[in-house]
Amino acid sequence: MLRDIIIIGSGLSGLSAALAFSHYLTPLIPDLRITIFELHPVPSTSGGALSLSPVALRHFDHLGILDELEEYGPESGVDVDAVEIFSSRTGKPISNLDFSGKQGLGYGDAETGKRYRARRVMRINLSLAMMAATEKRGNIKIVFGKKFLKAVQLEDENRIEVHFQDGARATGHLLLGCDGVWSATRRKFIDPGRDAKYTGFSLVQGTVKTTSLKVNPHFRNSSMNLSKNGSLLITFHEKQHQEIFTSAMVECREESVKDHTDMVKWKRDMINDSLRNEISSRFKDSVIPFVREVATSPEVDWMMYPIYQVPLGGNWYTKRAILLGDAAHAMLPRDESAAYAIDDAILLARIVSNHIDYPLETSFQIYDSLRRTDIAHAFKDSAKLWQRRNTDAGPIETWFRERLVPFQIKHELVSRKAAFEYDASKAAIPSLSRSLTPLSSLRPDSKSGSSFSSHDTITSSGGSSSHNGHLRTHSSCAQAEMTKLMSGLVVNEK
Ligand SMILES: Cc1cc2nc3c(=O)[nH]c(=O)nc-3n(C[C@H](O)[C@H](O)[C@H](O)COP(=O)(O)OP(=O)(O)OC[C@H]3O[C@@H](n4cnc5c(N)ncnc54)[C@H](O)[C@@H]3O)c2cc1C
Repeated sequence: MLRDIIIIGSGLSGLSAALAFSHYLTPLIPDLRITIFELHPVPSTSGGALSLSPVALRHFDHLGILDELEEYGPESGVDVDAVEIFSSRTGKPISNLDFSGKQGLGYGDAETGKRYRARRVMRINLSLAMMAATEKRGNIKIVFGKKFLKAVQLEDENRIEVHFQDGARATGHLLLGCDGVWSATRRKFIDPGRDAKYTGFSLVQGTVKTTSLKVNPHFRNSSMNLSKNGSLLITFHEKQHQEIFTSAMVECREESVKDHTDMVKWKRDMINDSLRNEISSRFKDSVIPFVREVATSPEVDWMMYPIYQVPLGGNWYTKRAILLGDAAHAMLPRDESAAYAIDDAILLARIVSNHIDYPLETSFQIYDSLRRTDIAHAFKDSAKLWQRRNTDAGPIETWFRERLVPFQIKHELVSRKAAFEYDASKAAIPSLSRSLTPLSSLRPDSKSGSSFSSHDTITSSGGSSSHNGHLRTHSSCAQAEMTKLMSGLVVNEK
């Protein structure tokens, strides 16, 4: 029985999960009810401007979020064909991080023919658009000001009870832990002891009105400016180019960033000043006038975000609860990071809907086996990228690094293209053959005892067969993993 879904957290994965589960499950469960419980009393305005990859945009289109976002007009974000990469030392362009594909039209959806590039948008606008999309679904409710404390698997085994800090409780048949890198769902219920770890990097970011700057930008929409002390992203985030979003990835020790997120006014002012000094000292010698001006402008309101990650491995699920997005696999952020959270939501919703007659744990196992390899690759790739671009370096190393960037980007092209073309809404999902014991006969009074029999089969269904090389490699890893997990089952390769 699956009717009430509880989601903890209204970030990208919580809202995507609500929309994806509503989309895939409502036709099967007409009285489906999804409730999101969010810690904050109102939608949070912090977080700066997010870069959305072509994958994220395609998902947002499918889930009705893009239409809502377009309602914001110029504030719906700026389309990015490519992030132009410059050397702060010479002022010369080094390379481009391309989002427009071979023909310059973006990465497409073969079925609809639509094409998507990247977009830079303020996080709050995206959240509001996602919330507007959830309202239209009719079976999603968001409850603000509810801090998850703990969860208890109820005696009858069919439901899980969630306890909040204010003493309130809620019960549901499925619990989705979408509460981010510090996830209490993970730490207090699904995988106690798996704590987030500081990565050694922090993001210092801020916005500034273009009217307060005297020099003209050296880029079209988005630029990354490499220096020996890290890199400074300078980008527009709205269509009228009235405001710049800027962020520097800096290497620093955990002790020195601990108090930098304090919001008390006098402390904020002090922090702002110290961050301005830091950014200024790193980029004031750039030969690019616009970089120099942004880095030293007194008008930028700087904030610091220490970056934590959730170490690979660990448990992602219990009987009726599963972690999605950063709660399961927070990693050093890159353009694709948010897309991984959305992929998680869509893939899991499809697997659960395909296996609606089986215990949730079966769907969780399938999901886990399909997702682990991709996530591990992404995690390691992100770490490598940050090490390469953002650790402090001497002049000779900086010179070498700049020369290597075009080769590295070329080298990554295949995996980036594969990532942009991967579609969780079409990816093949192994399905259990009809001979496998369904949920109805797995109840405690059932005589069959075990969930799986040695005659059961897993078949691949519901997916396109046009995987590229990269994905094929991942899929076969996943298939092998699946075989291991469900030992005794026969795998039918299609
Ligand atoms: C500084 C920074 C910049 C980034 N930039 C980019 C980028 O440009 N592009 C990109 O693709 N990705 C980027 N990322 C990564 C991306 O933001 C994350 O992968 C994504 O936000 C994950 O979404 P999530 O919903 O899993 O977690 P979150 O967005 O963290 O959402 C978690 C939600 O759960 C709520 N919550 C937490 N605890 C509780 C509780 N106990 N009870 C109830 N609710 C709770 C929180 O308030 C929050 O609303 C960036 C990350 C960081 C840190």
